[in-house]
Amino acid sequence: MENKKVYIETLGCQMNKSDAERMYGMLEHIGYTQTENPKEADMLIINTCSIRQLSEDKAYSQIGVWGKQKKSNPNLKIVFAGCVAQQGGKSILKRAPYVDLVLGTQRLYELPNLVKRIEQGEKIVSIDEKPYEESDIQINRVKGVNAWIPIMEGCNNFCTYCIVPYTRGRERSRKPELILAEVKKALSEGFKEITLLGQNVDSFGKDLPDGQNLAWLLRKINAIEGKFRVRFVTNYPTDITDEVIDTVIELDKVCEYFHIPMQSGDDYVLKKMNRRYDYATYKKICDHIRSRVKDVTITSDFIAGFPGETEEQFENTLKAMTELELDYSNTAAYSPREKTVAAKWVDLYIPEEVKTERLARLNEHNRACCLASNKKYLGREMEVLVENFEVRKNGDKVITGRTRNNKIVHIPCDRDLTGEFVNVKITNAKTWYLNGELA
Ligand code: SF4
Repeated sequence: MENKKVYIETLGCQMNKSDAERMYGMLEHIGYTQTENPKEADMLIINTCSIRQLSEDKAYSQIGVWGKQKKSNPNLKIVFAGCVAQQGGKSILKRAPYVDLVLGTQRLYELPNLVKRIEQGEKIVSIDEKPYEESDIQINRVKGVNAWIPIMEGCNNFCTYCIVPYTRGRERSRKPELILAEVKKALSEGFKEITLLGQNVDSFGKDLPDGQNLAWLLRKINAIEGKFRVRFVTNYPTDITDEVIDTVIELDKVCEYFHIPMQSGDDYVLKKMNRRYDYATYKKICDHIRSRVKDVTITSDFIAGFPGETEEQFENTLKAMTELELDYSNTAAYSPREKTVAAKWVDLYIPEEVKTERLARLNEHNRACCLASNKKYLGREMEVLVENFEVRKNGDKVITGRTRNNKIVHIPCDRDLTGEFVNVKITNAKTWYLNGELA
């Protein structure tokens, strides 16, 4: 089989990174090897993200560069994949005629067949929303200790700011047997942590036979032999069940960590966002989890400057962040996305300088929350899964890993213990990480 080289540039979220690992696996099967150098590639794939305008612009700018590369190498194939591809469809070929294949998010597994056709000179747009049947494929995972494994895809929630339901389609669960086989394979390859991935992991199983839900899946995975950890992201606040909380308490491998996006701490804004809860409900959920799960970490997402957001409403978000003692939050300024409901409220857009200023205040609160959260663990002994070993410029040797509740810890250590579980005494708390020493 002819040996060709493929380079994939991935933008955006973990789901895209996971898709890229699948693409590499499928392409290897038809004779391609992975290269880190786009200049020596026979095929270039951009795996795009449309969550913010900036990310979309980056994708077009990148293929512009590749288009020039194609002038000196007409055999070069360019694939435009991911969320922007799903949305843009045929218009991408008009804007960038040097693109050979536009591959929508739900056609991922069609890639090998489509590549064979573009190799024959065809130009193809494949963005059908009917998912292409998933096959049992080889996955070329990025080396490390954590394997990301999608369990469901898509979203039915239609939050008014979010493009995901338009780019990833409606919710659908992956077949449990494929997920379990993938978990076992990743463990046999040496991965020590499995993160189950989905836009709304609580929806896993809604389209499967009764009883097959997230808690059921966690129990199945926990029963696999060996020492490893399991996490899951992302939860929708009101969809988290007691059954799932029970698994975190009862199962030794399931970690004490929940990522529960709140987006705003103001009830009016939450309504305009089409989120199905108010602040009191969100608080009740957090309190409930904290009262049941010892040392749990709860992280969140927030948007600053949603259309029409007043200063008072924004301050409710700051108050909420502090009152709930959130351990960490991802923050972003609102970015209008075409097709979404909120993007049409142009008259209510918040000026850029106000959004930037609010985002800065949100980040300041976030930093204070993180530091307060980290300080809680001073003097404690915690189990750390080592992810990395480095020799710093000053000669210091340091291992870095995570606690069960997802805190990053740096530890002086002469040996590379990557992939091992070590007990660590926490000696210092910084905003974004802890320091510790081997216990
Ligand atoms: S629940 Fe999440 S993925 Fe779904 S529409 Fe809302 S923000 Fe987007």
